[in-house]
Amino acid sequence: MSTVQTEQRALPRSGAAAVRPLLKPALSRAWRDGRTLQFGTDPERAQVVAEADERYRSFLALLDGERDTSAVEAAAGRLGLAPPYVREALAELARTGLLEDAGAVERELTGLVPSRRALLGPDLASLSLLHPPPGAGAAKLAARARARVEVRGAGRVGAALAAALAAAGVGAVAVLDEGRVHPADCSPAGLGPEQLGRSRVGAAREVVARAAGRPAAGTGPPTGQPGQSGHLERPERPPRPDLVVFAPRDGSGAFAGPAVAARALLRAGVPHLYTGVVEHLGVVGPLVLPGASACGGCVALTRAEQDSAWPQLLAQLADGGPGRPPEPACDGALATAVAGLAALQVLLQLDGARPLSVDGYFEVSAADGMARRRRLPPHLDCGCFWR
Ligand SMILES: [Zn+2]
Repeated sequence: MSTVQTEQRALPRSGAAAVRPLLKPALSRAWRDGRTLQFGTDPERAQVVAEADERYRSFLALLDGERDTSAVEAAAGRLGLAPPYVREALAELARTGLLEDAGAVERELTGLVPSRRALLGPDLASLSLLHPPPGAGAAKLAARARARVEVRGAGRVGAALAAALAAAGVGAVAVLDEGRVHPADCSPAGLGPEQLGRSRVGAAREVVARAAGRPAAGTGPPTGQPGQSGHLERPERPPRPDLVVFAPRDGSGAFAGPAVAARALLRAGVPHLYTGVVEHLGVVGPLVLPGASACGGCVALTRAEQDSAWPQLLAQLADGGPGRPPEPACDGALATAVAGLAALQVLLQLDGARPLSVDGYFEVSAADGMARRRRLPPHLDCGCFWR
């Protein structure tokens, strides 16, 4: 018989008992030799089961998510394995992140209709690897389904970002904008050419609904109820979101800055993320945790220290300002990459992690295809930390 050898350094230890134990379906399993079984391929997270003899393999085969722990013990007993050994083996598999609890997954995801859950299968699989305790990945997905995100801007970045969030299981994704779809708004992941001339908000609603697997916008159940995924509420009376993304169509989200709307969110304690594409550069961040991390005002003050004329320039570059270029540049692939990176930051925040866009921001360049992170310490003169 064998035991799981922890080859990674920092897997969370859960100790949580799996009610209906299942070997994590998201993990690959490959034999290093005739008796050594490896789960996963990431060198940082892979686990190796040494001395996996025939009896242990038979034991692993019992962990199919159909049997509860008692049934596993009974079946293992017929293999000649005593209950205390089985319990310890299950606990060790759970501690090393190899075990899922099929019962917990079912309980967590009861609010999702089967078609929606099927679409989210790969996302759930990913979450189950990022959050090793049995059932923890499903709990994260259920929390996403209860979350509400507001995206301000339905351009190449904003609409694609909203679609990515809806497709990742965020329950309510609202897109706020005005006017009608212009050719410059279109992108393969967001608004489409077939939507030209339509209201931007209505078109974005369709894109979000499609990403969430709903047949048509406006035909779903009422918004904002836990477990009801992929809604887009009416923009005229948006309820308080868990997070707001500033993705204005003109790309000025890349400048951050102390906008009135951002100050209102700071006062209200609503986390918010800036993103946009200007010229050849896509920017994602900062993600502002009000009172706990650098804000858009910190960005403006930091840039003003590097370039004393920046405040005057920023005033002319803001939405509708006289300094805006006649035909703003926005590489389609860059906008798509920026939307994806921004969506990842939002999801990390919703999932309870601390994204690297907090106290920092990413720059993605169309000149070399590189993404770089810039540090952004809170600025002492900003006041966003003042009580
Ligand atoms: Zn600040």
